[in-house]
Amino acid sequence: MDRARRRKFGQNFLDVPTAIAIAGDLPANEGEAVLEIGPGHGALTEHLLNRGVELTAVEIDEQCVEVLNGKFGDRKNFHITNIDFLKFDLQGFLDAHEKPWVTGNLPYNVSTAIIAGLMPRLYLTKGFMGMVQLEVAERICAAPCSSNYGSLSVLVSAFADTKILRKIGPEHFTPKPNVDSATMLLTPRTVPMDFKGADIDKFFDFVRAAFTQKRKTLSNSFGKAYDKKKIQEAIELLNYPATVRAEELSPEQFLEFYNVISPKFSS
Ligand code: SAM
Repeated sequence: MDRARRRKFGQNFLDVPTAIAIAGDLPANEGEAVLEIGPGHGALTEHLLNRGVELTAVEIDEQCVEVLNGKFGDRKNFHITNIDFLKFDLQGFLDAHEKPWVTGNLPYNVSTAIIAGLMPRLYLTKGFMGMVQLEVAERICAAPCSSNYGSLSVLVSAFADTKILRKIGPEHFTPKPNVDSATMLLTPRTVPMDFKGADIDKFFDFVRAAFTQKRKTLSNSFGKAYDKKKIQEAIELLNYPATVRAEELSPEQFLEFYNVISPKFSS
């Protein structure tokens, strides 16, 4: 076993019964496009291909790609790209495929970056069903006012309806990770959020800043990036209680707050 490689690429491979169960949770039908991130040795891939979906796999490790080509290279519905998913032309793929499903047992070291990059384009997909570290899934799927609610929850729930599907213990992987895992279903919001022309990247910088000192009230929770007086003025203008905290604001309220604040920061 190449331990350094496995650690570098976050490789923990699923056992067969768990892979069958997880693949069964993806509501993709025969002939539909599926994008699988990090197929590894094909634990999920095999069961998805057997259902006749058109599967494109994106895998960073050329050794895994060799294994996958050996197993599935002769199947017409199997397509593979050997690249870091963070450098993959996702928009090009989405332009070429009608509303694909996105799936994968994500490498833990880049799972947040992958999910964050996917969210603004989630409406071009049927959704994401896949696995991350349990603690990350809990943060992603947290509701306002709950202890796990933070900037990642706001970022994802601005684009997706979220649900944790399964909790998976370390014993279902080789090698065993030190953490629990969970699968989640992220589908495009039934009521899309209207960003009203706001700059999405700047909006999320603002949300992250709001959670810098999340135990404090909103007027004190921002780092030095935003002027405290202007934050207080916005809180008054919107009739929020002076004691309001970042964790109490829904994505819609964050946007409302940002749209009051943002003209004040543009010179
Ligand atoms: N899907 C397999 C399974 O469930 O058994 C493997 C999952 S393993 C947790 C994560 C996989 O993602 C590995 O195959 C790893 O090589 C691959 N990977 C890691 N970083 C990646 C990246 N940036 N882009 C694409 N694949 C990546």
